[in-house]
Amino acid sequence: MKNTIEQLVIIGSGPAGYTAAIYAGRAQLQPIVFEGFAAGGLPGGQLMTTTEVENYPGFAEGIQGPQLMKEMRQQAIRWGAKLVTDDVVKVDFSHRPFSIATDDLEVKTQAVIICTGATARRLHIPGEDKFWNNGISACAICDGTNPLFKDVEIAVVGGGDSAAEEALYLTKYASKVHLLVRSDRLRASKIMQQRVLNHAKIQVHWQALPIEANGDDVLQSVKIQSQAAGTITELKVGGLFYAIGHTPNTQLFQDSLDLDDKGYIKTIGKSTATNIAGVWAAGDVQDHIYRQAITAAGTGCMAALEAERWLAEIH
Ligand code: NDP
Repeated sequence: MKNTIEQLVIIGSGPAGYTAAIYAGRAQLQPIVFEGFAAGGLPGGQLMTTTEVENYPGFAEGIQGPQLMKEMRQQAIRWGAKLVTDDVVKVDFSHRPFSIATDDLEVKTQAVIICTGATARRLHIPGEDKFWNNGISACAICDGTNPLFKDVEIAVVGGGDSAAEEALYLTKYASKVHLLVRSDRLRASKIMQQRVLNHAKIQVHWQALPIEANGDDVLQSVKIQSQAAGTITELKVGGLFYAIGHTPNTQLFQDSLDLDDKGYIKTIGKSTATNIAGVWAAGDVQDHIYRQAITAAGTGCMAALEAERWLAEIH
């Protein structure tokens, strides 16, 4: 690999990365995919830490997140993607061929698709690891229909649009939704604020933070610290949803690509092109609004098609 110039390198291995790899592989670009060590040592991105995925089209009965990623990975391999299970630690986009390096390997390439995703912020409270995916989640749309949350009280943490959206979504399943807001105001858009504040099933707790998650096998209650009252109370909830923002995984690209004020890679118009010709970005690393496996896969497909056309033009 060392002395040749590759056509296309894909960095990241969630739905965006593997979909880009499938399309690029079928276009005979023989992409190199740096899968990384995301999600605690496993390639595959955020879905590796999800259980049932019920909204990915084509799986009428749902599919386990890790199984879905395994299928995508196999499909990428089938079409000729070369997978490198290592973290990229350095990129050089200052001239072509671009350089992509891990601790052990440097690859030169004409084109790059970045699919490094975003990481849901966590609070790191006691009990969080134990109940993660077993009562605690960072995605109501992914996990809200789990029978664990049916007709029980649920808490959502956060005060932005995501928290408002998740709280409203969860009212369809939960008997009551407690919205825990750390300050005395919601940051969400006015319309979302009104919907939340006027909803009969949502109770807003101002200046409140979860400080401990408790239960036996599944989550049963959360300790809440009220900063206004200076009290600690136990809230009986079967679910705790974090909606306190995501951090895009763009540290590697801070000096080379245009990022927006939240650190997401800026893409041009309706394309996945970045400010550097020959570099595209797909999935959650450039999308803070939809953040779904299917939208990530969709933009991964777009990026591969755009890269294929661009490579054909420069040759
Ligand atoms: P935001 O950054 O907008 O909001 C994060 C929220 O979490 C804030 O209320 C913040 O509190 C709170 N928070 C952060 N850290 C902690 C913590 N440690 N403990 C407790 N609370 C915490 O993130 P969102 O994911 O809501 O939104 C990101 C972007 O995506 C926004 O621009 C949003 O408008 C957009 N979006 C748009 C949607 C739409 O248009 N349909 C849907 C979802 C998101 P504080 O306010 O005190 O900082």
